[in-house]
Amino acid sequence: MIQRLCVIGVGLIGGSLARALRQAGEVGEVIGSGRGEDNLRAAVRLGVIDRYDTDPIRAVAGADVVVVAVPLGAIEPVLRAIVPHLAPAAVVTDVGSAKGSVVADVERIYGHVPPHFVPGHPIAGTEQSGVEASFATLFQGRRVILTPLAETAAASHHLIRRMWELTGAEVVDMGVRHHDAVLAATSHLPHMLAYTLVDTLARLDDRAEIFRYAAGGFRDFSRIASSDPKMWHDICVANREQLLEMIALFSADLARLAEAIRADDRAAVLAMFQRAKRARDNLYLE
Ligand code: NAP
Repeated sequence: MIQRLCVIGVGLIGGSLARALRQAGEVGEVIGSGRGEDNLRAAVRLGVIDRYDTDPIRAVAGADVVVVAVPLGAIEPVLRAIVPHLAPAAVVTDVGSAKGSVVADVERIYGHVPPHFVPGHPIAGTEQSGVEASFATLFQGRRVILTPLAETAAASHHLIRRMWELTGAEVVDMGVRHHDAVLAATSHLPHMLAYTLVDTLARLDDRAEIFRYAAGGFRDFSRIASSDPKMWHDICVANREQLLEMIALFSADLARLAEAIRADDRAAVLAMFQRAKRARDNLYLE
């Protein structure tokens, strides 16, 4: 399906996509690009890519699909560098965790969103980074959201949809703003809570004692605080507005819970926990 795939940012997501497409037998040659040669050499050794070039301009030469899988803050400079050097029929997509900022980046570069650019976001990942953490089944049974615009060419949209379906993912289309609102609630806010909780506890005087007795619940809740800080810094910057709305909503609810505990309003506390348990228990039943 793809003759020459160029993956800029051969990390967890870019590496897993390349592995999955190779496994599906739907890609000819895979060229990787990034800043660090150690990671790219590892990608060749692991069979994730065929070859690499640290210069993204050379890496995209002749590629029919270019996947930009770098942190959100690096998307604009990478796109700016490669745009004049893309093959005439190349289709470009990204995997960034926020979409409004990526569309704004593209508009700043081109003055509009070109027909061959298809913004995307796989809803799959782990708290690990780098090509060594990548695996071919990462997207199996998971969702990938595409946020095509009115300007997006149907053929480009179709190609990127098909590419993700080959990884075993279910592909859904969504508006850019809606994507950012949904992800602020389901992914970005939970990461803020995990980072804040661990940071709060880690600054307590008796932190060693506290972490010694942290049980499974804490381990589950705090796992995502091991995610790459730079990546999450970029997501906060990129989805600032929507994230702040969710933080405000959550803070108000937490303050309400604190007030109910302070006022010894046991009925209110119990009702809130029951409501949350019902919602959580029903969450994965669909
Ligand atoms: P990752 O494992 O750290 O991979 C990012 C890759 O990008 C690295 O190989 C890095 O290599 C390269 N890179 C960083 N800055 C670069 C630059 N300026 N120019 C060229 N290459 C650069 O991160 P990831 O988890 O795959 O995340 C990549 C993207 O996927 C992010 O936009 C993120 O928002 C999105 N995403 C992540 C998840 C998740 O759960 N992890 C899920 C969905 C979407 P060098 O440092 O050697 O350059």
